[in-house]
Amino acid sequence: MTLPGPAVNDHHSLPILVVDDEPLILTAMQRMLARMGYSAVETFERGEPALARLESDGVAPGLILLDLNMPGLDGVEFIRGLVDRAFAGHLVIMSGENERVLHSVDQLVRAHGIAELGHLVKPVRPEVLEVVLSNWVAKGRENRRPGKAPYAPEVVRTAIEEGQLTNFYQPKVSVATGEFVGVEALVRWQHPADGMVFPDQFIGVAESNGLIDALTRAVVKSAISQTRSWNQDGIVRRMAVNVSMDNLASLDFAEFVRSATKAENVHPPSIQLEVTESRLMQDLRGPLETLTRLRLHRFGLSIDDFGTGHSSLAQLRDIPFDELKIDRSFVHGVARNETVRAIYSASLSLAKQLHMQIVAEGVEDREDWEFLRGTGCDYAQGYFIGRPMPAAGLPEWHENWRARWADELQTPMKTTE
Ligand code: C2E
Ligand code: CA
Ligand code: CA
Repeated sequence: MTLPGPAVNDHHSLPILVVDDEPLILTAMQRMLARMGYSAVETFERGEPALARLESDGVAPGLILLDLNMPGLDGVEFIRGLVDRAFAGHLVIMSGENERVLHSVDQLVRAHGIAELGHLVKPVRPEVLEVVLSNWVAKGRENRRPGKAPYAPEVVRTAIEEGQLTNFYQPKVSVATGEFVGVEALVRWQHPADGMVFPDQFIGVAESNGLIDALTRAVVKSAISQTRSWNQDGIVRRMAVNVSMDNLASLDFAEFVRSATKAENVHPPSIQLEVTESRLMQDLRGPLETLTRLRLHRFGLSIDDFGTGHSSLAQLRDIPFDELKIDRSFVHGVARNETVRAIYSASLSLAKQLHMQIVAEGVEDREDWEFLRGTGCDYAQGYFIGRPMPAAGLPEWHENWRARWADELQTPMKTTE
């Protein structure tokens, strides 16, 4: 039994699990970690007991170092087990597999929403491990709550009711003209004790505890009233908000969105609803009805995270989407990775043939941006353009963006060959 540790944000005392079927590797890793000052290391020769550990009462592990190739429960099954247990820490894959296999595992981990710190090629070298660990410590400062259990439903309910949720807004621009075309509302929780909490820490809790309706309605309401005030200033044209499939199953959702826009005098086409299928829906009739009604009333509908397990071709066939957002795992690094590029291009041409607008998300650097410019992609969103920010930061961002566009981004960068 593990005793609750001291200060949870001290990474050196947060439990680290090492899972590998080779005892020698476990010993070596434990030694290396101890030398670097990490004392709470627990080792497992098999996946099952490591997963069971996640359900125990001790301090939740902040980091798991996982061998991909194990007899019994393999690495991929283990990752599924992490998802089922809502593991909120970070993961590092250790393997002797080639890059291609490792890359596909990386994608899998990301698609499941687990925070991965990259992979370690075996045999693991101390200096490489050191880099990975310092990344982990740095990430912890972003307050993704390593080592803490998920928030209790009651706490999330209170947060919604007491108005502790606020919207951040991330800009979206036209790839061809650089024009600022709209924003996506991303919810944040201003937690009285924990500081800013990101949606991956509470959306899932809200969804599985009947709170997502109240949450989404709060987000939508404040996004719409923000839209009205931006429309008046002539700053922002379009507002995108995220809705869960569970929202769409409730039959008065379309009516709620309609009356909320009416009340603020906002035109439906300036509101875009982004839909991700976070879990399998048994009965699609409710959502389909809601989405069709929203579309008939001229609201925009985006299929979010396209290309991941959460959104599928069947949805494209059945639901009247007018916009497709390519998931960031097929955007960032697209210029350098052939497989990523193939999926990016296929998604783009699919969207074009279906007469949908296309948004590339996760544009993180100049290379991603330059690549998109050559492909006929309509809109781009990502850290390279602007991070999510409070509403008040947007005018200043816009001014900077205009200057960047005029000074350097408008003309394609000369390739150095
Ligand atoms: P999403 O809809 O795919 O939103 C984009 C996420 O990617 C945001 O994370 C954003 O901060 C992040 N991001 C933006 N640009 C970049 C980039 O260049 N690189 C990288 N690596 N990431 C980038 P965030 O805000 O943590 O939101 C996570 C997810 O939570 C969202 O993914 C969305 O599915 C969900 N979410 C956020 N707000 C709401 C909401 O109000 N309602 C519901 N149902 N879900 C929400
Ligand atoms: Ca989204
Ligand atoms: Ca997305």
